[in-house]
Amino acid sequence: ATPTALMVGTGMGAENGILIRQGKAVELLREIDHIVLDKTGTITKGHPSVTDLVASEESSYEEVLRLASAVEKGSEHPIGEAIVRHADEKEQEIPQASGFEAVTGQGVCAQIKGEEVLVGRPSLLKSHDIDVGKEKIGEARKLEEEAKTAVFIAARKKCIGIIAVADPIKEDSMEAISALKSIGMRPVMITGDNERTARAVAQQVGIDEVIAGVMPDQKTDEIKHLQEQGKKVAMVGDGINDAPALTQADIGIAIGTGTDVAIESGDIVLVRGDLTSVVQAVKLSNATFKKIK
Ligand code: ADP
Ligand code: MG
Repeated sequence: ATPTALMVGTGMGAENGILIRQGKAVELLREIDHIVLDKTGTITKGHPSVTDLVASEESSYEEVLRLASAVEKGSEHPIGEAIVRHADEKEQEIPQASGFEAVTGQGVCAQIKGEEVLVGRPSLLKSHDIDVGKEKIGEARKLEEEAKTAVFIAARKKCIGIIAVADPIKEDSMEAISALKSIGMRPVMITGDNERTARAVAQQVGIDEVIAGVMPDQKTDEIKHLQEQGKKVAMVGDGINDAPALTQADIGIAIGTGTDVAIESGDIVLVRGDLTSVVQAVKLSNATFKKIK
């Protein structure tokens, strides 16, 4: 690679909202065969909203929303933000919670009027000796097949309801995935979300390979695993928990609208934050290095 050609390449990138932080990445990009994409905030907008609320017979819509929003007030997770926003929209008064605790990749808990309330996955409830029950699991399953994420709410040592949120897919995700496939890349979705929701979203954008239920600190291991199979891997992500995986991948591509930590870990930063820019970056790499030869 001649320096001049590289400069032309990176200049063209900048014009297209592709920031090259690591010059070598442009050249390496041509060799990539697998593109691992985070789900939330990368393929989807990362701004879910509440779509469904199911209350058990011994509870009510009002109680489920009141308790869940009180606990989630302490959370910075997009699911928590969606639940609090929904409560605000419904003009639901949100009681004060104390002793807030977030369990990574599982959910949140806090005390409300001295009573413990949990919001999260079945495994979180189980770890507090609360059984979600077959019926609720079945209801959650239906919601998950609609590409929604369902969380369970527990109070009085019982599961009292389910809240589902949906995160809209970015306008260009489907087209970008299809373009990536047509230039020989294999897209893989990675997410902490459950398998069913992940598969439903993947299907909507044309991704066949899904790695779901990944704990935040395990994304790196999944990238390593692919590399051990001889694959050349680019990782696209936006979140704090994507940062180590961005570093581990042969090329880290950060969504520019994402967290600072992710941006700092990226070899390439997509300023506009859409997936079409990934396609453009690959094309830029091909064009730049064709010129040099
Ligand atoms: P991702 O960011 O890929 O969705 P996370 O590891 O942040 O993955 O979360 C995994 C799962 O843990 C969520 O899908 C949800 O079931 C549960 N969870 C995490 N944080 C919360 C929260 N604040 N409220 C409810 N559930 C949560
Ligand atoms: Mg994300």
